[in-house]
Amino acid sequence: MLSERVKHIKPAPTLALTARVNQLKAQGVDIIGFGAGEPDFDTPDFIKEACIKALREGKTKYTPSAGILPLREALSEKLKKENRVEYSPSQIVVTAGAKMALYLVFLAVLNEGDEVLLPSPYWVSYPEQIQLCGGKPVVVPLSEDKGFVLTAEDLLPYITERTRMLVLNSPSNPTGAVVPPKELERIAQLCVERRIFIVSDECYEAFVYEGEFVSVASLSPEVRDITFTVNAFSKTFSMTGWRVGYVASPEPFARVIADLNSQTLSNATSFAQYGALEALTNPQARSFVEKMKETFRERRNTALRLLSQIPHVKVVKPSGAFYIFPNFRYYSSLLGSDLALADYLVEKGRVACVPGSAFGAEGYLRLSYCLSSQEIEEGIGRIKEALSQLL
Ligand code: PLP
Repeated sequence: MLSERVKHIKPAPTLALTARVNQLKAQGVDIIGFGAGEPDFDTPDFIKEACIKALREGKTKYTPSAGILPLREALSEKLKKENRVEYSPSQIVVTAGAKMALYLVFLAVLNEGDEVLLPSPYWVSYPEQIQLCGGKPVVVPLSEDKGFVLTAEDLLPYITERTRMLVLNSPSNPTGAVVPPKELERIAQLCVERRIFIVSDECYEAFVYEGEFVSVASLSPEVRDITFTVNAFSKTFSMTGWRVGYVASPEPFARVIADLNSQTLSNATSFAQYGALEALTNPQARSFVEKMKETFRERRNTALRLLSQIPHVKVVKPSGAFYIFPNFRYYSSLLGSDLALADYLVEKGRVACVPGSAFGAEGYLRLSYCLSSQEIEEGIGRIKEALSQLL
């Protein structure tokens, strides 16, 4: 009954886990959820107020399919000032979150059988979206010993005549790895030489704890001309439910992506776009983001310290995002798989973590630290206790 295209699609495991945790909580079960891929902060009031004002003013109709002009102008300014890359407003398309932006990029670029380099561990939706668009994900394994940081050398053995694109996600979900600027230059140079497009998912740009964030498109005009810069308001401003993201593309892709938007989504929700505009233009936004980042930094340090104390668990220090991706292989092999381990931790420890196999890395668990420090301490304590019963 189902089309060939959708036959193999899987639900996003991270959303499924969040739903399960919420269900257990509603049943009164005391469970600590490390699964959430979203900040536990509320969206700032000044952003909400701008949205309410837009609603009151009747900004409730269709907008241009690429997004309202003031927002695209503000994004162009932001990209120039913060990311040091020139994209005109006509190169920017506002979409329903980064997820939709990525999907439209794959749709616009990939032909049947085109290969997409996908460094692994990878975020769950990339392989699904690539396949939905007829592409073939080519998994490029990253080494835990090198902190899961992608290098140009890692890519070389996987490049073929059919390689069309590279997915770059730094800081990374799930590992939190950040590619250092020098390595980013080598990767970009390789892509320019081999004529490989880059889709740079910069959703976690605001959360870099060591070193600085660099947009790959800022490295040179040649790199910008092969790069799709994808980002969202979701994580930076704690606006995951608003569904506002964007993609800045080389011409003529920008026009095509706007057309795809117009034939599918029409536009990102009108009043949500006004909230997003406020997030970019209100000077209070900077201190909100800074505060969130410093809170995450402290939590990361707590999680890292506590996880490192669990016997047989190996942890790489994540430099960005709000995830930590420890190696639990010792325990997952005792139970048969990381799925079995995640289930065991829910049952015995009342702690929910996402199994690494969802990200292409069997034997790991992803823990999000979008929780209070007390919950992090309590939750990791429960993990340690539950695992000790396996020894
Ligand atoms: N890209 C990465 C790497 C993510 O982790 C996520 C969300 O978890 C997204 C994209 C999707 O972002 P949005 O909620 O803006 O669609």
